[in-house]
Amino acid sequence: MKTIAKIFRSQQISLNKTTVTFSHCLCRLFLLLLLQFLHQHSPPYNQLLYSPHPTHPTPPPSRHGPIRRNRRKFRESGKSDTIPPPYSWATNQRAIIHSLNTLNSKQIFTITGDVQCKRCERKYEMEFDLREKFAQVGAFIALHKVAMHDRAPDIWMNPVLSTCKFCEQENSVKPIIAPKKKEINWLFLLLGQFLGCCTLEQLKYFCKHNKIHRTGAKDRVLYLTYLTLCRQLDSTGPFDR
Ligand SMILES: [Zn+2]
Repeated sequence: MKTIAKIFRSQQISLNKTTVTFSHCLCRLFLLLLLQFLHQHSPPYNQLLYSPHPTHPTPPPSRHGPIRRNRRKFRESGKSDTIPPPYSWATNQRAIIHSLNTLNSKQIFTITGDVQCKRCERKYEMEFDLREKFAQVGAFIALHKVAMHDRAPDIWMNPVLSTCKFCEQENSVKPIIAPKKKEINWLFLLLGQFLGCCTLEQLKYFCKHNKIHRTGAKDRVLYLTYLTLCRQLDSTGPFDR
């Protein structure tokens, strides 16, 4: 009898164990289903935890914003190598003019440029004979180059301006320098010895596009601009640096 009672008790225990295990499984299943439901119907956890305004979730960043900015940057830095020649005596390279030989073959003998009187403010076009004016500049350089010591002389730094053909004011007509640097009339400025009217920034632009990577005071950069322009016209002349 005792033995039967023992067996019965042990079976009851194992039955109880089974019941416990079964209810445990049910509980876990319920929890899993609940978690799945919450996951599907609630906002993302990171939004709940990190969003400063969880009630007004911030829209995703615009797809076009950064891309457009990059494109603009590319346009700014990605300038084309050539430009439409701003004058018949200019090449399609920035700050580079044709040689005398090319200008002769193109029958270009007169160089024009826009000027304005400082007194009466009238604007008009001035013209130079290419050969005559270049001979004057070349002779001046040949004569004074050694004494210049790589610096523009005062006459180049502070050019004597022409007399106005309207109001006849002396030393009053200054060249109109194109606001866009690629449109600066370099040959006209050279022939009139007006290059000193350029800003340091404009002269540095010229040097940069002629592969002269030199910074310095205006008299040095101006000297280099004069010599380089003369060399562009006549590479055999006394215009080495
Ligand atoms: Zn005038």
